[in-house]
Amino acid sequence: MDKKTECEIVQDLLISYVDNVLNPESKKIVEKHILECDMCKNKFEAIQNDVKEQENVKSKEIDYLKKIRRKAKLKSILFGIVIVFIVFFMYYSYNFIILNNISNKIHKQFETDNFYIKTISNESFEKGVMFVSQVWYKDGKYKKTSHFENSEKIVQKFDDVYGNIKVNSKEEFRLNTENKNIKKENLLYEMNKNIFIPATNPIFLKSTKNNIIFKLGAPFYTKISTDNREIGREYYVLELENGKQWIDIDTGLPIMIFGYSSSTQYYKDTKIPIDKIEIISEYQYEFNTVTDEDVELPDLSEFEIDN
Ligand SMILES: [Zn+2]
Repeated sequence: MDKKTECEIVQDLLISYVDNVLNPESKKIVEKHILECDMCKNKFEAIQNDVKEQENVKSKEIDYLKKIRRKAKLKSILFGIVIVFIVFFMYYSYNFIILNNISNKIHKQFETDNFYIKTISNESFEKGVMFVSQVWYKDGKYKKTSHFENSEKIVQKFDDVYGNIKVNSKEEFRLNTENKNIKKENLLYEMNKNIFIPATNPIFLKSTKNNIIFKLGAPFYTKISTDNREIGREYYVLELENGKQWIDIDTGLPIMIFGYSSSTQYYKDTKIPIDKIEIISEYQYEFNTVTDEDVELPDLSEFEIDN
């Protein structure tokens, strides 16, 4: 093979050689030739450099694309976080404002030192029997009564309770009007009028000493909606883990509270537990209608004092 022809053949093979796709025999010929021929060696090195450069450019391009993709991904993640945060913040603020509003309204209602609250609930678990409790409050003096009743009559009456927060907030008198018996009771806690306000939980009333975490948490875990079923006007529905409440929009006062019994109830004369029974309490309020006689201890001359 003359020199010129061999050079031409080798040069034709160089690219394939650099790409490492030659068969072993051709490879040997090329390697042998470039050791002996400077011109072909130079060509070989030039091609090798070209290929290397191209590879560099390619990998740089890939790096650049990767960087752009990474940035775009990061941006979309950040954007998602911001959206979630905004939605959460709006939800929280909305609930916070409504709960705070309800709390303020209730306090406004109870600024007066004269109110009456009646509670009717199905706490007896007996069909048709309701538990009725009433409280009259006037200028620090109060009377509480409670009984079970069916549609016809009172079936069980509990002691009437009297107290005077301004005289002694840890003392109550229990009157059994049937047995004409009076009993003085020392309370473990200090009585105040806010105790009579229903639904101190979960609404963060200013007066109750709920801790700050609880108060700040309330807008987060309370689901708020409105409804107008059964009473013909709109009310808030506050839903919590342990029940729900219907709240009068104008006054902030609970109209109904739905909860569950904390104690386990059994089917009559058995040990078979009844599934959680929903306790429904209905509230009625009157303001500035309580008279002195409503809260005054009755004539006790016929009563026996029990210590
Ligand atoms: Zn050559």
